[in-house]
Amino acid sequence: MTLQPLNEQLPAIEVSEIRQFDESVSKIPGILKLTLGEPDFNTPEHVKQAGIAAIQENYSHYTGMVGDPELRAAAQHFFKTKYGTDYDAADEILVTVGATEALATAITTISDPGDAILVPSPIYPGYIPLLTLNHVTPIYIDTSKTDFVLTPELIEATIAANPDAKIKGIILNYPSNPTGVTYHAAEVKAIASIAEAHDLYIICDEIYSELTYDATHISMGRYAYDRTFVVNGLSKSHAMTGWRIGFLMGPRHLIAEAKKVHQYLVTAATTIAQRAGIEALTKGADDAQVMKAAYIKRRDFVYAALIQMGFEVARPDGAFYLFAKIPERLHMHSREFTQALANEQKLALISGTAFGPGGEGYIRISYAASMDDLKEAVKRLRAFIASRTD
Ligand code: PLP
Repeated sequence: MTLQPLNEQLPAIEVSEIRQFDESVSKIPGILKLTLGEPDFNTPEHVKQAGIAAIQENYSHYTGMVGDPELRAAAQHFFKTKYGTDYDAADEILVTVGATEALATAITTISDPGDAILVPSPIYPGYIPLLTLNHVTPIYIDTSKTDFVLTPELIEATIAANPDAKIKGIILNYPSNPTGVTYHAAEVKAIASIAEAHDLYIICDEIYSELTYDATHISMGRYAYDRTFVVNGLSKSHAMTGWRIGFLMGPRHLIAEAKKVHQYLVTAATTIAQRAGIEALTKGADDAQVMKAAYIKRRDFVYAALIQMGFEVARPDGAFYLFAKIPERLHMHSREFTQALANEQKLALISGTAFGPGGEGYIRISYAASMDDLKEAVKRLRAFIASRTD
């Protein structure tokens, strides 16, 4: 029997370099991994109890496909109070299966096969396969020369350099995985106005918004409401990665179309998790504060140690990653560095190359780990650097 060929885009999709590396080093006995973007905190107790109560109270049926109305009302209030956006709970907020499904839905909604989307890089690599599956080409914009900030000049230059591309939109993420950079009001406004000038949609992944350290998070939804899908969720703010609750927010003309995609992708998010989400947003609106305080301490510790070892690194404004430039004197590429570090000192970090153009020469450290692990990691990194220095 011969079968018809599968979707021709599939061979272009690999298991992410992060996952591959993480799996391969897991075989090394005693390996200490600062690889994944997963909060090391547990879901707050009151949210877990709400989940248990939901099971006992038989919240075991489908919700409407857009999500539990109470959860959408809670999200409307939460994001309005925190960031000043005011999405209508009935028509402008969709409850999704994590931020990932919100991203997939947004990309499918705005894209035609053959379109291109601008992607500032280094970037969270999860976006790229979603573009590929939609037959959309990513056009990377290397931000390594502008402190990892996407500027209007870079956008203009990229559009001018790709006159034949059908550029449909931009994907942005701040606070950023992998750089920890966030955008301030002037930068958000500048991107909003250039998107308008070129009639581009914006998909703004704000999943780390509650982990913005000193500044206030500025949502793209405030400045480019008409053309923006805002993506958020409970994975990072409430340490609820496994519950899979996200939000896709936008003006009703965009959400009306997105609903169709979402409905046939997943029907609806898990009812029990949605009930727990109501508790998280209404009674745990500030749950992220405790985690944030811990992340700030960890950032300060690892940042100071890296500087002392001779790494060049921007001090993160949010999220829980450091993106550090390998000291020139070591003459090492990123992959070579991370592999040797894992083999010789049993410390796993991610090569900057996993995050697209502009990442060579860098490593990413996730500090969503205990202070004890971070101290041990710094010790191992120091030993590695010493072993490579004449
Ligand atoms: N967006 C970014 C920038 C991320 O770093 C991650 C996870 O690491 C996600 C989205 C995925 O979020 P979720 O687990 O809610 O799907």
